[in-house]
Amino acid sequence: MDLAGNQVEGELNPSSDTKTHLVLYNAFPQLGGIVHTHSTFAVAWAQAGRDLPAFGTTHADYFYGPVPCARHLSQEELDEDYELNTGNTIVEAFRTRGIDPMAVPGVLCYSHGPFTWGKDAAQAVYHVVVLEEVAKMGVLTRMVDPSAQAAPDRYLEKHYMRKHGPDAYYGQAR
Ligand SMILES: [Zn+2]
Repeated sequence: MDLAGNQVEGELNPSSDTKTHLVLYNAFPQLGGIVHTHSTFAVAWAQAGRDLPAFGTTHADYFYGPVPCARHLSQEELDEDYELNTGNTIVEAFRTRGIDPMAVPGVLCYSHGPFTWGKDAAQAVYHVVVLEEVAKMGVLTRMVDPSAQAAPDRYLEKHYMRKHGPDAYYGQAR
């Protein structure tokens, strides 16, 4: 597909979610790949309509803050263009809350499930796997203590920046 939604190669029909992806690619030009799943634990947070808090360092290594839950679509939005407006609610969640989509490379769609993205398709897949894992950890954290809250900001800062900041030192040099 090109960014206007024209099929440019292949014989098979494009994904029914194509319009959602196009809205995201057009709104956030840094994106090189997008993934959507209905994975169990991420869906649990999406169905509850809750942001996934950054409970700990596993989350903070990849998501610089809570993974937001975008709002429900209205009846009009569902009728008018469900997939397009799903994309619009995602963009709205990031813009109204001032979230950088490259620092928080994923979202939960209310009553639906997660979308993640990255600089390419492989990184988008990686992020959806991490999101599912931290969503699972989050469910367990709230089971252990239903009032558990996000880790202190200094943990988020330390873990995100040592991996992604200007002075990143985590992992191997490439
Ligand atoms: Zn879906």
